[in-house]
Amino acid sequence: MIRFDLENAAWILSLYCLVYCLMVNRRQYKFSRSVKANLLNQHVVFILAVFSLTVTSASSVAGSFLETLSSRQVFFWQYLLHTLYYLFHITLSTCLALYFMDITGAGVGKKEKYFILFSLPYLLVVLLILTNPLSDVCFYMDARGYHRGAWMPLLYACGLAYLVICFLLFFRHIRAISRTDRMEVGALLFLAAVGVVLQALYPQLRVELFAEALTLLGIMMIMEERSGHVDPLTGALNRPALVEASRRLIESGRSSRLILVKLTNLDLFAKLFSSREIDSLILQVAEWLTETAGDYELFHYRDRDFAILVPDEANALADELGGAILQRFEQNWQTGAVNFRLEAELCIVRVPEDVSSLNELDELIAIRFREKNQGTRLVSFHEVSTFRRNRHLAQSLRDAVEGQKLRVWYQPIWSVEEGRTVAAEALLRIDSEEFRGISPEVYIPVAEQCGVIREIGLFVFEEVCRFLRDCDYRKLGLEYVDVNLSVYQFLHDNLAERFEAIREQYGLPRDAINLEITESASMQTPVVEAALEELRRIGYHFSLDDFGTGYSNLVQLIRTSYKNVKMDKSLLWDGDHNENAARLLDNLIRVIRGLGCNVVQEGVETPAQLERSASAGANLIQGYFFSRPIPEQKFLEYLKRGESN
Ligand code: C2E
Ligand code: MG
Ligand code: MG
Repeated sequence: MIRFDLENAAWILSLYCLVYCLMVNRRQYKFSRSVKANLLNQHVVFILAVFSLTVTSASSVAGSFLETLSSRQVFFWQYLLHTLYYLFHITLSTCLALYFMDITGAGVGKKEKYFILFSLPYLLVVLLILTNPLSDVCFYMDARGYHRGAWMPLLYACGLAYLVICFLLFFRHIRAISRTDRMEVGALLFLAAVGVVLQALYPQLRVELFAEALTLLGIMMIMEERSGHVDPLTGALNRPALVEASRRLIESGRSSRLILVKLTNLDLFAKLFSSREIDSLILQVAEWLTETAGDYELFHYRDRDFAILVPDEANALADELGGAILQRFEQNWQTGAVNFRLEAELCIVRVPEDVSSLNELDELIAIRFREKNQGTRLVSFHEVSTFRRNRHLAQSLRDAVEGQKLRVWYQPIWSVEEGRTVAAEALLRIDSEEFRGISPEVYIPVAEQCGVIREIGLFVFEEVCRFLRDCDYRKLGLEYVDVNLSVYQFLHDNLAERFEAIREQYGLPRDAINLEITESASMQTPVVEAALEELRRIGYHFSLDDFGTGYSNLVQLIRTSYKNVKMDKSLLWDGDHNENAARLLDNLIRVIRGLGCNVVQEGVETPAQLERSASAGANLIQGYFFSRPIPEQKFLEYLKRGESN
């Protein structure tokens, strides 16, 4: 008669886990052809643990059943079932310890010796159990039934030791397990331990196997339910899986390599081809990468981003693998009748030397290495870290704004006709050690990206208004001050209103301030144009800055009216040694003057450059030849001394 007790529940539960794990395992890793890769996977250790528990609990139940028959013929089977019970029970605890070694990353990169030492107690116990028919040290059976042998406590001690190892690994490497899973995994371990202790104290309770089955079921649901870790399109592992794997790697402290592969021109193809074609292209890349990565795990963590994880023992291979990938991207990819020439950027990152926390890794994988496409290439980590530095810079900028570290310096603008300083450009400086030696050319774009440009813009505008009011600028011969305006400032509403409120507060006329913009084609959105128009309508004048570089084009000059056009310094400097550049600049200045705009030549450093610019028709000059940007007080002294006159 079969009793429906806890031990029956235990084998039914563990059998369910076993079937489920095997089915899931078939579904996942569909690209992983390497048996070794699968064997090394934590999954296999877990399946082994579940299998051991199934055999253990089934043997226990079958044993109890045979006892009820109490016939001499079943003696052999009873003995066999006891043997199986002990053999697989010790295997279960050993597998569980191995599994915890895996999920906590404690086993990463450990030498064989370590594992041999780890499994020695297990092997010893297995030997004892297998030789028990000769020695009777574990248990023996006589006419009165089953008896524990003299060394039985050793078996229990060994099982308990492996359970203690699980606890130790769990607490020691708790950071390797995601925050959300920690509580549950800890509670499940505790449950198993309670089962063992209860049964040791009250053997008639028979709760141990059931508690263990619940523990495994729980772990399976939390840690092993990996269907959420697989990208349905490619079958490769997905972003949560990458985060999980990286957490383990970082915690283990062993040096590994993460090869990041970013498809940089996929967006372009996505505009030209159907999503079915693009999917099949991505699939093809994934298949090739899986094949090439061999034993190592492939992650497809975003549309156009792949990663291969190369563990520490194969570090040297990472470069080789990187080389092969770069080479492959020199050739076409074909889906259907279409040939794609995909471009990829590769970055080989050392974990944990380059990225020592999950946050850092998360930032890194979120980065697009280059805004502009530069074709297939290997990106050095240093280059990537510049991008990351910019992220820190964004925080420092916010701190500088809050800590009132922003300053405005002035660079004189000299009039060729009047032979004196008539204006100045206001330029931002940050009075902080962290920004020493960092040009606004570096941090202004960062301020634009992170939105701080809004506060900075308003600060500079107000500071210039205050300066003009305090110094009685007209008496000093100043006509206006240039304030640089980023187009990103237009994206925040009410810019014109805010400027007006500040200007009125300081009682200045609108023409005391000249707004400088560099128009980039990409930013010519209706929002920007409307804001520009509004400022123009109420009476602000504009300069077109850095003309001759970037996106500035001649058509803009006809479409929009600029009071000044500021010629970029690079064209002037090129003219020092390139006759064509000199001639082009010369003619450009004439054309722009012909349109009725003032031409300000920036970057004049030498008398020859001054001479060249003036004779071409530039009527305003700005450059180190007269003065570098200087603080307010020095600028006032400069004006009063009339150095440029
Ligand atoms: P920009 O508006 O074209 O400013 C002129 C830049 O050229 C200034 O660099 C100035 O110091 C530099 N310069 C002027 N004459 C010479 C010269 O003879 N030789 C050399 N080597 N350089 C010269 P700075 O101050 O480093 O500013 C760089 C850029 O940062 C500015 O270029 C502007 O685009 C941006 N920027 C500076 N302050 C602000 C600001 O308050 N708001 C905004 N939105 N951008 C700003
Ligand atoms: Mg400027
Ligand atoms: Mg400029």
